[in-house]
Amino acid sequence: MKGIKIDHVSRIFNDNVALADVSLDVKEGEFFSLLGPSGCGKSTLLNIIAGFLEPTDGLVYIGGNNVTDLLPYRRNIGMVFQNYALFPHLTVFENVAYGLKIKKLPRKEIEERVTEALSLVQLSSFAKRRPHQLSGGQQQRVAIARALAIQPSILLLDEPLSNLDAKLRKEMQFELRNIQQRVGITTVLVTHDQEEALSISDRIGILGKGHLQQVGSPLEVYRRPANRFVAEFIGQVNLFEAVAKKDETGIYEALDYQTDENTTLNLDVGNLVIEQKQEKVLLMLRPERIHISKTLVEQRLNSAKVKLQEASYIGNALRLKVVMNKGELSINTPDLMFETLPNIGDEFYVYWDAKDLIPLEEGE
Ligand code: ADP
Ligand code: MG
Repeated sequence: MKGIKIDHVSRIFNDNVALADVSLDVKEGEFFSLLGPSGCGKSTLLNIIAGFLEPTDGLVYIGGNNVTDLLPYRRNIGMVFQNYALFPHLTVFENVAYGLKIKKLPRKEIEERVTEALSLVQLSSFAKRRPHQLSGGQQQRVAIARALAIQPSILLLDEPLSNLDAKLRKEMQFELRNIQQRVGITTVLVTHDQEEALSISDRIGILGKGHLQQVGSPLEVYRRPANRFVAEFIGQVNLFEAVAKKDETGIYEALDYQTDENTTLNLDVGNLVIEQKQEKVLLMLRPERIHISKTLVEQRLNSAKVKLQEASYIGNALRLKVVMNKGELSINTPDLMFETLPNIGDEFYVYWDAKDLIPLEEGE
């Protein structure tokens, strides 16, 4: 098992800065995801690790060795792409055996390794088929088996599940994680799908505009996003720009929200210590942290009377958009809250806990 170290890596294409001074450690045996919107530099970074692209600046280490100037095939890497890239005229067995033949391994060892790899991805009985006789999910499992058969020291995956439909993608996420755990191989997955990154990874690195915005466990990046970019990219979010009230400690006024004509929405951040470097603070409130009441709520702060503007039912939950006198909120609530679906225009009350207001940096 080998770890990966990215040391101050930049990549510039003509004038376009695809990666700006990225440093990152992927630990031995870790399942690490690079997450970010399209064009943020994920594939560029993965290709620099693989050796398909040279960094403009910076160094890459695998297992403690500087591999920056090493050709891809000398890095002992397994790689899987979105489009499977299987050889159509070869059988499943031959596809998986391909890299081993190039390495000129003895026939017996090739047979053993292919058999083992196919069993790992549960395709033992498909060895004689050709790619067109397989489903998309099965083809991708062949590609994974092929990547693992060479016994690489690290596994790199670039959007491997993006061609699959939603249900199959979910199944394959579990399977991929399962395979990675059994093999114990250091893995870097590139994805733009936040749910995929959250459900599959030990840690996630969020890339935005060529910068590494945050590295953390799924729970950390969701609950404690480093900045506005991360908060908005990972899940839905309500954001309040707020200023401290003069004579009341811990109470903030949300500038763009009014509970009635003359009253700004007051936010109570509880015991939270907000550094008073800047006048304004940015506070995040996740939609699932908002509670609903049909009757007036006791608490004066962190509450408002609202009117329903939009509702969508997604089976196990309701997604609501509500408005107060000024400003709107997104809410996710279990559908048990309402016996029948609420009607647009219905009025009710919302409230939330001080601890669920999370301060954020603006970010770059
Ligand atoms: P992602 O994989 O996150 O969608 P990429 O790493 O492919 O993003 O691309 C990052 C940026 O670098 C984009 O602006 C893209 O247009 C640019 N880019 C990527 N590869 C090349 C290339 N070979 N030549 C020029 N620009 C490139
Ligand atoms: Mg890409």
